[in-house]
Amino acid sequence: MNEVVAPDLAPPAPLARIIPRDQHSISRASVSPNALKVLYRLRDAGFEAFLVGGCVRDLMLGLTPKDFDIATSALPEEVRRVFRNCRLVGRRFRLAHVFFGREIIEVATFRATAAPEPGDEPIDESSEDSIDGDDTDVESDASQALPDDEVEPDRSNSSNPDRVTDHSGRLLRDNVYGSIDEDVWRRDFSANALYYNIADFSVWDYVGGFEDIAARRLRLIGDPATRYREDPVRMLRAARFQAKLGFTLDPATAAPIAELRALLAGVPPARLFDETLKLFLTGHGAQSLDVLRDWGLLGELLPTVDRYLSSNSDSRVLQMLRQGLINTDARVAAGRPVTPTFLFSLLLYGPFAEIIERQPAERWHDIGTIVDAVDRAARDAQNRIAIPKRFTLGMREMFAAQPRLEQPRGRRALRMLEQPRFRAAYDLLLLRSEFGLAAADVAHWWTVLQEVSQADREHMADALAAAHAGGRGADDGGAGRAPRARRSRGGRRRRRPSQSA
Ligand code: ATP
Ligand code: MG
Repeated sequence: MNEVVAPDLAPPAPLARIIPRDQHSISRASVSPNALKVLYRLRDAGFEAFLVGGCVRDLMLGLTPKDFDIATSALPEEVRRVFRNCRLVGRRFRLAHVFFGREIIEVATFRATAAPEPGDEPIDESSEDSIDGDDTDVESDASQALPDDEVEPDRSNSSNPDRVTDHSGRLLRDNVYGSIDEDVWRRDFSANALYYNIADFSVWDYVGGFEDIAARRLRLIGDPATRYREDPVRMLRAARFQAKLGFTLDPATAAPIAELRALLAGVPPARLFDETLKLFLTGHGAQSLDVLRDWGLLGELLPTVDRYLSSNSDSRVLQMLRQGLINTDARVAAGRPVTPTFLFSLLLYGPFAEIIERQPAERWHDIGTIVDAVDRAARDAQNRIAIPKRFTLGMREMFAAQPRLEQPRGRRALRMLEQPRFRAAYDLLLLRSEFGLAAADVAHWWTVLQEVSQADREHMADALAAAHAGGRGADDGGAGRAPRARRSRGGRRRRRPSQSA
């Protein structure tokens, strides 16, 4: 299907509008020094070299780019010859990674796209080798990519062993190299298709991206329905950029989403996991939730979560989820670590509670019931999103710790503080208590416990044990009030996981 390249389908000899340095706001001072080094070295070696994509967009908006991507006329092998600290990665989509300590500059050779015809679009280059996240750092695309040095590059444009699609037109491989004039057509949104030329610091705009950024508008390049069919993840990317940048979707870009969103079911689950992390763990998670729900995309990504939120529209769980995402966004803004484990505990809390509440109430607080419910909620989510096992195991631990935190017992409670998941489990307890999903006094007890000296901790634990032994209401008389007795003689207090008791 992608063999024939009819001449009249070729892009009309695209001429970039060149915006000179004095007519745009991008200053080299805001570009990573390492990215500048790569650009200059490529230029000095006789190649064209441009910053491209999200970094140019973000610089125009006065934001700090997450990473700096470079597009060049140099072939991957040529890039490797210019840099010692360079590896070629990716079979499906060959890229050069230039390493500077922790920073990796991604260098992509211009791709030829004969025409914006179905199947001629690259898969998300950043997800070439799927990230599966890391408990402390979600930015690990590059570190997951495998070295792959044996494939020879090919500039041929006619036969297509280097551009491979599957039966549905989804692009599986694209190693057909070309010029910048051709490269631009594979980009998704006009705002992501600006090129910053290191030769004279001008910005090249083929598709009206400059105006679209000024108007804060997201517009797909080419025919939107075709572009979504080529790569359904573009719908999630649209939602992500809307959430992150506060852009509005151009009506033509928005229109096909309702009809085509079901195509996300055909996207590899590992890639959807990557996208989910980018949606929720990069500083605009609360906004992403709203945008995904507005476009009906949450139902494609996390069907059980979407169903739960739709049928419990004023629930405490939704309020808690939103607050949890707001807190996560604040952590990202402060440069503190965020974890997929905590994220998925928040997202899956509703489905988890629903599963638990199908059980008889006396079992709601049993560890076995809780662990089974976590596993079940995670398995349901795995139908779409490949959540790596270490995160689902972490969720288990966080949820299993909840009844132990809610019913601290004497000095044994102090051992909880040493557990690796304690902090996450405590954060969840605190959040639950804020919305009446756990007792506020117990959460407070744990807050105080962490703030005081070891001697005071023991004192608090002993006071608690004494209160249990002697009935309820005893005061520890010291650093913090003991929570009211959790365990009445007749059995445990039963608080629904999804509502206030
Ligand atoms: P950010 O890094 O802020 O998340 P970005 O726009 O840089 O946003 P990346 O995923 O880093 O997004 O991709 C870099 C560039 O590659 C994009 O700006 C876009 O030009 C192109 N691109 C990425 N994914 C796709 C895709 N699925 N379809 C078409 N082009 C894409
Ligand atoms: Mg980027």
